[in-house]
Amino acid sequence: MTTVMYGDGLAHQMRSELAEEVRELAKKNIQPGLAVIIVGEDYASKTYVRIKKNAAEKIGIYSRVLEFDESLKEEELLAQIEQLNKDEDIHGILVQLPLPSQIDERKVLESITPEKDVDGFHPINVGRLSNNQPGFIPCTPYGIEKMLNHYGIDVAGKHVVIVGRSNIVGKPVGQILLNKDATVSYCHSKTKDLKKHTLQADILIVAVGRANLITQDMIQSGAVVVDVGNTYLESGKVVGDVDFDEVKNKASSITPVPKGVGPMTITMLLYNTVLAANQSLNESSMESTD
Ligand code: NAP
Repeated sequence: MTTVMYGDGLAHQMRSELAEEVRELAKKNIQPGLAVIIVGEDYASKTYVRIKKNAAEKIGIYSRVLEFDESLKEEELLAQIEQLNKDEDIHGILVQLPLPSQIDERKVLESITPEKDVDGFHPINVGRLSNNQPGFIPCTPYGIEKMLNHYGIDVAGKHVVIVGRSNIVGKPVGQILLNKDATVSYCHSKTKDLKKHTLQADILIVAVGRANLITQDMIQSGAVVVDVGNTYLESGKVVGDVDFDEVKNKASSITPVPKGVGPMTITMLLYNTVLAANQSLNESSMESTD
């Protein structure tokens, strides 16, 4: 019997717990604050930003959206981030990607203070994850870890094969699971004979963005399959990277698209923002005892 691993139930449960934590923080006169920066008019980016803002406000997080014209200069954006770095009402800063070509994405991400880097993309937080030290962990990979945990899937000693090596999903999810004693392999667009690798997976994580890349002949019987991909078909339907209908008959557990990994991503953004607020409280209490 295959388990379909839905993310929406866990996301709902975690958001209720976070709302409770926000109420507790209010008793200490602190309201977690999230700033979301968006540059340009990209429809999908605007939709994501609106969803993030609504989700934050629903659990009592203060949210501020800063919208800028497509022509924004890099130094203007860096100056805005500098102000947010100093703003005591803001605990988390997120820059919606992609940015227009005149702006160096890396430079912008590096300008966010690591203590407010709730997306976990700053090199300091990337390094902390790599060293298995506490820090902000990127939201989608973190959500995958929480889902595997929730469904009782122990990764220690398992062979995890990841298809996709992006900085926001593939690489960090491998790092998280390596830290939990999995044996991790990465595949990407230059991998020869993808099927040879995917067939070896106890746990297969696919983050590519190509509909039906993974078919049932590419997984071993009983594998756990996590599908991160999102492809929008002309019909408006969204599908993952895995041929769900076929693969679900062979996998022991599988995430659907939609309602799989997706709902966990924003939940982990809220989680990281509340964590940042808690950490700021600890820092200010340390300062006052100095
Ligand atoms: P990305 O930056 O475009 O990375 C895609 C990765 O797939 C690259 O590493 C690429 O290899 C690899 N790849 C491309 N074609 C391949 C092939 N034929 N065989 C094997 N590997 C191949 O994408 P991303 O940002 O990681 O996102 C991946 C997917 O996840 C997208 O569909 C995105 O929409 C979705 N996503 C979903 C969520 C969510 O919340 N559910 C969050 C983030 C992303 P190279 O490195 O060699 O180019």
